[in-house]
Amino acid sequence: MSAHGKLVYLIGAGPGDPGLITLKGTECLKKADVVVYDYLSNPRLLSHCRPDAEKIYVGKKGSQHTLEQEEINQLLVEKASAGKVVARLKGGDSFVFGRGGEEALALAEAGIPFEVVPGITAAVAAPAYAGIPVTHRDLTSTFALVTGHEDPTKEESAIDWAKIATGIGTIAFYMGVKNLPRIVERLIKHGRSPDTPAAVIRWGTMPRQQTVVGTLADIVKKVKQAGLTAPAITIVGEVVKLREQLNWFEARPLFGRKIVVTRSRAQASEFVEQLEALGAEAVEMPTIRIADPEDFGPLDKAIDNIESFHWIVFTSVNAVGRFVEQLLQRGRDIRDLKGIKICAIGAATADEVREYHLRVDLVPPKYVAESVVEALQQAGEIKGSRFLLPRADIARSLLPDEIHRLGGKAVEVDVYRTVLEEEADADVIQRLLEGDLDLVTFTSSSTVRNFAHMLGKERLAQIQSKTGFASIGPVTTQTAKELGIPIHIEASKHDIPGLVEAIKRFFSETSLSHG
Ligand code: SAH
Repeated sequence: MSAHGKLVYLIGAGPGDPGLITLKGTECLKKADVVVYDYLSNPRLLSHCRPDAEKIYVGKKGSQHTLEQEEINQLLVEKASAGKVVARLKGGDSFVFGRGGEEALALAEAGIPFEVVPGITAAVAAPAYAGIPVTHRDLTSTFALVTGHEDPTKEESAIDWAKIATGIGTIAFYMGVKNLPRIVERLIKHGRSPDTPAAVIRWGTMPRQQTVVGTLADIVKKVKQAGLTAPAITIVGEVVKLREQLNWFEARPLFGRKIVVTRSRAQASEFVEQLEALGAEAVEMPTIRIADPEDFGPLDKAIDNIESFHWIVFTSVNAVGRFVEQLLQRGRDIRDLKGIKICAIGAATADEVREYHLRVDLVPPKYVAESVVEALQQAGEIKGSRFLLPRADIARSLLPDEIHRLGGKAVEVDVYRTVLEEEADADVIQRLLEGDLDLVTFTSSSTVRNFAHMLGKERLAQIQSKTGFASIGPVTTQTAKELGIPIHIEASKHDIPGLVEAIKRFFSETSLSHG
């Protein structure tokens, strides 16, 4: 599958959950020089692309087209003709109401080679995430995909309603929210029982998925009451009843909760993954950024004399990667760490050390300096030993003090620096002001300070009644209080899993309704 330009991949991006693209789809994205993407394809998928790939948004939200179809066809032909590998990324499957057929025809006419990578279409994925299997041996043997977008003023329908209404078990209507009253009316008029179960699923497979269930008789009213709008898929048929037992996705503990993560992007992934695994929408708003230390000098000196140390104590996940990187930079590698013991503060830090195929000799049970020193003492003599502490510039110095008190030598070197993220995400701030986000999380004092700085006094005051605040531990909580930010949740175990646990408990105890 080597690509040398002049090729278009028509890729189905899947229904929204970024995990629901195919392996082949991601492989093709990696190869693309140009990516042309839509409203319904999750922008997070663009992270599979090369950083230097040209990314072109061609929109299409209902009738608001950024580019007309004809222009999109033209764009694909042009880019490919210029010798580029083009990835055309479309929501769901390109050939299911995706106008991928038209694009492929335009390419064929222009003599441009193309490949089609199918995707999971909304009519299968959204009901699956709503707990509705589209077929079931006892309930239906047929399943139809129908457009609900037909012009209602059209005299002659292209849809044979009489046959659809009674001849098919499960019917999925795409693009049918606006037309729902007419769809339901026609189904009933042509003989489908008003008691037939129906469901409308909006933003299926996404953390903001919303499902309304009823029957043909009342679904229109219920959808209106819920204020459900596009994009949504309508499923009609007996299979909808299975949702009562199979609704797994919306039943997860943090489903529908919108939680702001203020850590740096480099540090956020573990937290984001854990929140999402529980069903939350994790909204990243980095308040800090990891940067190089002001001066690599002390670190380099320590690396050059690495054999003089008895221990390396890693105090954070970031310190590990940064240290190893600089080790390589200095022309050395992990073989030069032979004989040196490694202590990791926190399970996540220990895991990161193991990523580099290094053994962790000690993970102290608690993170406070006294406890670390106690553990070090049990693992060997502190007196006369030399400890290297690669750390962030703002680390607190309790640990080296304790080591010195006991006759050891602690050498602290900066391996990274946390700096204020200058660019505040206007979109997230807007959502905070609108009260659209349920919780803001703080994982260190600097995240609190920078968050307060980013919002400014006035806006900070405005959002206080509109969102909750969670803190990883007492030190962070104290900083928040000093800045006038009320903390509603404090983790009793001061790491990411501990914070996630506290958030889960909080939401299971509150009866706050959410949509
Ligand atoms: N090619 C796409 C369909 C594009 S038509 C596919 O195969 O899924 C656009 C319509 O698809 C929307 O109006 C809606 O009816 C449906 N749709 C797409 N993504 C959806 C989602 N995540 N949840 C519910 N419906 C979705």
